Formats: sequence, structure tokens, C-alpha cells
Amino acid sequence: MIPPDVHHDDGMRELYRELILDHARRPRHFGKIDAATHTAEGINPLCGDKLKLYLQLDENRIIRAAGFEGSGCAISMASASLLTEIVIGLSVPEAESWFAAVTARLTAAGDAGDGPDLGKIIALEGVRGYPSRVKCATLAWHALDSAVHQRGTAVSTE
Ligand code: ZN
Repeated sequence: MIPPDVHHDDGMRELYRELILDHARRPRHFGKIDAATHTAEGINPLCGDKLKLYLQLDENRIIRAAGFEGSGCAISMASASLLTEIVIGLSVPEAESWFAAVTARLTAAGDAGDGPDLGKIIALEGVRGYPSRVKCATLAWHALDSAVHQRGTAVSTE
């Protein structure tokens, strides 16, 4: 279920819904990366979302490949799919600023300030004000934060 979004008119809401469903049905970069240098798991027990994120960083700490495996609701899978599209080519500091900007935007903290232009991520903005759905939408991003820091523990929303 995609929650209603009071910030956009029906046309935009429909576009966002379709984008989320498209990514959920046909997730981009789905699958394990054997050459991954950084990985992290994310678990959202309330909804049952589980994913493992794979990143391949080069010697300059640029993300050269990203992929994920897992299962969960449409929002969690779409968010992970969008994440893999976004992070390829980013440096670690750029990935960190995306993590900060996306979590700020989706948790209703408001403007991401000087952060990156969030592009398609605003399709997920309908979760704002629905704390249980925010956990679905930000799960992959917390896994990203954990992976680039090699924290080694699974991130859990609980
Ligand atoms: Zn979920």
C-alpha cells in the first residue's frame, strides 16, 4: 500500500505510484555482486523487509557497482532499486550526503538544504508522516551507510 500524499496533486501521485511499482516489480541491479568490497544487511522486522546490499568500491573509494538481494514490500524494494541506480559512480562522501539527504527528506525533517537533487527519490515522499512506512523506505539507505563504513552488523529498524 502506498500511503496518500497530501503534497502533490493526483497526477503526480499516480506517476510516483507507477514509478514505485515499476521498481518494485523489476528491481534494477538485483542480485549478488561477487566482487563486492562492501556489504551490509538491512532488516525491518515490523514489515518483514530484508535486504543485503553489495557495493564494489575501487581504489579511489568510488562506487563502481551496486546490487542488492532481498524481499519485502514494494516501497522497500523500490527504494533499494532506486538506490542502486543513484550510487553507482559516487564517492563515499557523496554517498554519505545522499544518505543524509534522503533520510532527512523521508522522515519529514523537511528540506535537505545543500544536499543533492533527490530526483526520483521524491516518489517515495508519500511515506512522510507514516513512521512504519518510513522504515521501509529508508532501510536500504541505512544499509548503504553501514556498508560504506564497513560496520559489519546488520542494520535493523527496531
Ligand atoms: Zn516494508
